[in-house]
Amino acid sequence: MSSQEQLLEGLNGPQREAVTHGGGPLLIVAGAGSGKTRVLTHRIAYLMAARGVRPGEILAITFTNKAAAEMRERIQALLGARAAASMWIMTFHSACVRILRREAHRLGYPSGFTIYDSADSARLMQLVCKEMDLDPKRFPPKSFSAQISNLKNELVDYDTFAEQAQTEQEKKLAEAYRLYQRRLHEAGAMDFDDLIMVTVNLLQMFPDVAEHYRRRFRHVMVDEYQDTNHAQYVFIRELVGAEQEAPVVPPSELCVVGDADQSIYAFRGATIRNILEFERDFPDARTILLEQNYRSTQTILSAANAVIERNEGRPAKNLWSEQGEGTPIVGYVADNEHDEAAFVVGEIDKLTDDGAITPGEVAVFYRTNAQSRVFEDVFIRMGLPYKIVGGVRFYERKEIRDVLAYLRVLANPEDTVSLRRIINVPKRGIGARAEESLELFAARERITFAQALRRVDEVPAMATRSVNAVRNFTALLDELAALVEASSPSQLVEAVLDKTGYLSELAESKDIQDESRVENLEEFVDVAREFENTFTALLEDEAALEGEEVVEEDAEPTLVDFLERISLVADTDQLPDADDEGGVVTLMTLHSAKGLEFPVVFLTGLEDGVFPHMRTLGDKTQLEEERRLAYVGLTRAERLLYVSRAAVRSAWGSPSYNPPSRFLDEVPPSLVDWRRGESPVLSAPPALRRGPSGRSFGGEGFGGTFGRSRQKTEAPTLSVGDLVNHDKFGMGRVQLVDGTGDRTKARIDFGADIGEKDLMVKYAPIEKL
Ligand code: ATP
Ligand code: MG
Repeated sequence: MSSQEQLLEGLNGPQREAVTHGGGPLLIVAGAGSGKTRVLTHRIAYLMAARGVRPGEILAITFTNKAAAEMRERIQALLGARAAASMWIMTFHSACVRILRREAHRLGYPSGFTIYDSADSARLMQLVCKEMDLDPKRFPPKSFSAQISNLKNELVDYDTFAEQAQTEQEKKLAEAYRLYQRRLHEAGAMDFDDLIMVTVNLLQMFPDVAEHYRRRFRHVMVDEYQDTNHAQYVFIRELVGAEQEAPVVPPSELCVVGDADQSIYAFRGATIRNILEFERDFPDARTILLEQNYRSTQTILSAANAVIERNEGRPAKNLWSEQGEGTPIVGYVADNEHDEAAFVVGEIDKLTDDGAITPGEVAVFYRTNAQSRVFEDVFIRMGLPYKIVGGVRFYERKEIRDVLAYLRVLANPEDTVSLRRIINVPKRGIGARAEESLELFAARERITFAQALRRVDEVPAMATRSVNAVRNFTALLDELAALVEASSPSQLVEAVLDKTGYLSELAESKDIQDESRVENLEEFVDVAREFENTFTALLEDEAALEGEEVVEEDAEPTLVDFLERISLVADTDQLPDADDEGGVVTLMTLHSAKGLEFPVVFLTGLEDGVFPHMRTLGDKTQLEEERRLAYVGLTRAERLLYVSRAAVRSAWGSPSYNPPSRFLDEVPPSLVDWRRGESPVLSAPPALRRGPSGRSFGGEGFGGTFGRSRQKTEAPTLSVGDLVNHDKFGMGRVQLVDGTGDRTKARIDFGADIGEKDLMVKYAPIEKL
């Protein structure tokens, strides 16, 4: 058999057509697991083997670097090691950087231009707003950053935007946009969105540049086309040269693959339009549909199809599998998130025990990054190796390390490393220069950095502004230190988040990443609360074993105890090394799971308010995007799929009773085998039995339905002077109310013993009396 035939052998009819298609633009639309990515890989191999295309003439765009590496590997497996070496298989950003390194000098950038990450560009935007003397309350820099990012994704430059700007907000934004670009340019830097936009500008402004790349890339391919944004679409169009009249170079061959049902990045500017209107964008385009799924059992596929069918206005798809019915989906209703994690880990243990499944074949998915923490704790405790894909381990996340640094400084004021980590976090006007002067002063006086802070007046050449800023900082540390003695670790964590302004800064941001940070911090409050709960129990157990009484003052967990415990779980070096053969279990958010497949998948946290995410509950468009995310999650599974939810989950250290995810209700009951028969309704407190939507419980759908509200009860509306009862602190009086909606906080005085507390009204276990 010739190598060409070999390449085509493992493909069905329509796949083969797509691989061998030559000439005009080609769109392949198809549901999950139907071989879209496989078609791209085989097409590349076929172009080279059958049509004599050189590797250098091929540009293949993938959604992640990991996907690019996998595609390269597969091509090497098909054609040999050297075949793919010089081929451009990469993400949009990497491809644009490569082009820019060669060409950006034409627009006055140095070829070694710097790329600003989101933290860098946020910093620059703050400087710009300051330079413009803008009131950060009225014109938050973060919101400007987000809006400018959107404009760039839409290829709107500042001049164009300035012409349209009507309101004062818009005019200021236009001005900030202009100044921000100028500062970037002066610094020889581009932010992430610039990489695409500037490349498009280059291709449009310099015909010779466009021609060069059109000659070079005779074949352009894009995976996950449904998640491209406008700028990326124009980049492709310019590169291919589709709209040229009498082109010098004939248009390159374009082949894109995608699935509108898997579009999950609209919040970042991706637009399904690109796939829906491909034929209009590229006249003489051809579309090929794929309908056979090769990944999953029919059971898994039917579940996924049933869920996605609830989205309106989508063309019906007929996705089928020859894999047979397979095993039923396993459902599990956990009492709480710890029970859920224990169940998942227990199942993985059982599955891998007899060698039928290796750990590397298993993935655990969750909606938000913060949810990884409980799983990580159980994996670490059980000594099971794991990896987190597309994210950072919980205790290594920036916001968690920042709070930990505060706590460490409170436990040990001389901890220089921690102190320097937080000295200007959140920003309080102690710049690098001031920090350096303090360091020099400390060295000269042979005192510690902490002591130097206290003697800031004596530090030579310190600006008055910096001196004041340092004084405020030490005052803040003193204020927090005064709380250490009388507060529990969780109260301290809350105090740090609150008094430093760390939480409010994040809470005000519209950035999705900051939302995720708030969720991680919320989870960290839970960590502290859990620690306190188990601490006393452990002491009692130990004392019982030793036949002793628990001494009263020992029973209170201290900050030092807490930090000690954290350093144990946070030290993941203790995990055994993955044995190379079997790999390790993968933990990841649903967003990172796109394009991947695993024999065994656990889809966890299926609760309304968790998944679908709380933010999306009231918004039909966003809910539909969540449903697509559910479709992505379900269709990652090849043979075994688990779906689970917790009846109670902690939020800000308090229990929150979440109704089951609506996506669970949408899965036909006959496909799921519920492991725990008892109705969760029975274990729910009576207060929950009235759901605002008036839905009935149990019976229909899965695992019963609590109704559609996440809250335990409605969050009370509080005013100054109101009397409240708190589950733990008892009776108190409201002193201050701050913020609105979900972010409302109240300062409540619980009397002499407990004192004043700042609480998030929505989450705190309080009722108005
Ligand atoms: P997604 O939408 O999730 O990105 P996809 O459409 O890109 O999915 P692939 O990942 O390319 O699908 O293919 C899914 C699985 O099916 C892969 O393991 C692939 O190797 C296998 N597969 C695809 N087509 C065939 C075929 N004709 N014969 C055998 N296996 C196939
Ligand atoms: Mg794919």
